[in-house]
Amino acid sequence: MSDTNYADVIIVGTGNAGFAAAVSASENGAKVLMLEKVSEEYMGGNSALTIHMRFTYNSFSDLLSLVKDKKLTYNKLYTQKLQELQEAVTEYTESDYLKDIMDVTNGKSDQILSKELVINSLPTIKWMNKLGHLWSPTFDNPTSANVVSFNGKGYGLIQRWKKIALKKRIDIKYNHHVIDLVKNNNDKISGVITKTNNGNKIYYANSIILACGSFESNSKMRAKYLGEKWRNVKLRGIPHNTGEGLEMAISHGAIPYDNWSTCHASPQDINRPDYDLPGHNKSGDYWSRYAYPFSVMININGDRFIDEGETWRGLTYAKTGKAILEQENNIAFQLFDSKHIQAGVLRKYKKPTKYSSETLIDLANQIKIKNKKKFINNINKFNKAVQPGNYNPLKLDGKSIKNIYPLRSNWALPLNNPPYLAYPVICGMTFCYGGLKTTINGELINKNGDIINGIYAVGEMLGGLWYNNYPSGGGMMAGAVFGKKAGKHASANIN
Ligand SMILES: Cc1cc2nc3c(=O)[nH]c(=O)nc-3n(C[C@H](O)[C@H](O)[C@H](O)COP(=O)(O)OP(=O)(O)OC[C@H]3O[C@@H](n4cnc5c(N)ncnc54)[C@H](O)[C@@H]3O)c2cc1C
Repeated sequence: MSDTNYADVIIVGTGNAGFAAAVSASENGAKVLMLEKVSEEYMGGNSALTIHMRFTYNSFSDLLSLVKDKKLTYNKLYTQKLQELQEAVTEYTESDYLKDIMDVTNGKSDQILSKELVINSLPTIKWMNKLGHLWSPTFDNPTSANVVSFNGKGYGLIQRWKKIALKKRIDIKYNHHVIDLVKNNNDKISGVITKTNNGNKIYYANSIILACGSFESNSKMRAKYLGEKWRNVKLRGIPHNTGEGLEMAISHGAIPYDNWSTCHASPQDINRPDYDLPGHNKSGDYWSRYAYPFSVMININGDRFIDEGETWRGLTYAKTGKAILEQENNIAFQLFDSKHIQAGVLRKYKKPTKYSSETLIDLANQIKIKNKKKFINNINKFNKAVQPGNYNPLKLDGKSIKNIYPLRSNWALPLNNPPYLAYPVICGMTFCYGGLKTTINGELINKNGDIINGIYAVGEMLGGLWYNNYPSGGGMMAGAVFGKKAGKHASANIN
């Protein structure tokens, strides 16, 4: 076996989970090779489109130590905003994090994995910080979780991961599409077959860590596991995670774990492109339409269909895409009036698809509501049902409606002050919740409960954490936590 086609640990995929695994394996003495399907320009996977990780912190100083932008610290407005943020957030404890996970998954998240994620979140962030990762405060995010974001967003994070990996002499090969696994005479997974521009190549390793995403970009697999409606859905994400990593592992004895029939999907501008690519200026959340908790959201028949303001957006957005997909014509409309504009809740809508009018009936005509009389009636009923109380978009304000369904728990304002605005939205698929059964170190497990020697799965491929819904920032944190653990574990097994 030549030196160039052997590594102690091979990582498949250059997303956040892959880099965490690669750097951790290297730190623990392994010779590491990363194989990526796409060209260097589009490396980084969905991770390159993200904003933050959800982790516990005991005080504001845990957060401040991650923010080291000296230039900004001398800016007066910045220091003032930082002061306000410090007053607004106190702590996000392990029990807060676990409660959020269990609440959004109806208690179905794997208890061992979710606990492992939570208790390792802050130590993993500190490890990343020591490696050179930096964060910036998220001033317009009022929740106690997700108060800091990656410097340069997900794209910046991936560029830093790459720099750290190259400094550790980790070899990264692009345009290396892993298409199968290789077993040795002892029935141990011992390598991968890759398709390259120069034909197929085999690389051997003591351990292989699969970090190549889920099946969200594969229309046939979406239709098979999530249902026919998902076949032609637009992606809020990259087109490269086509599920072959999952299929390869399953064909070698791994077992699907948990919820292959649900996924993360969120409200997107009706005119968003079919998919995103890392590094493009209109990728990531450019097309996301996340002011819906403050809106009255209706379908083409003029009916509301969810509690728009159930709780913080970060705990509802991942299930709201599916709710929109289930409406007639797979479309919904977020309605606002001048009060919302003044409150600033639409600030993040950059060049959205938008309709506006001085009257509700004209707005209904423009967006082609089918039953306009019912629509006007529904809005009148909603307006009358709004309860007294102070409206505050920065708090769970409890400003609700009564006696009409769906209920509305927060941020209810009557639609009665023109101009009226309507934003048409569709469902955008982010990633699938179904993955593979693993140990807490990411080792794959077969149907008898035994560890499959030499192979791991991390990131989106690790199953059992999410069910039906998801807390924002959980995916990237899980990728870093279990990637780091798998990398360390795999390097302990070097022969
Ligand atoms: C727009 C957007 C915003 C998001 N924001 C957040 C956020 O702020 N916080 C958060 O926690 N989560 C967020 N998410 C979810 C988050 O992106 C995922 O949970 C996370 O990126 C998963 O990381 P990963 O390393 O498993 O996969 P990815 O980052 O998708 O990486 C997988 C890599 O594997 C490569 N690959 C695939 N198949 C093969 C193959 N056969 N051979 C070789 N390589 C292969 C792909 O090209 C890709 O580079 C967001 C997702 C999107 C799309």
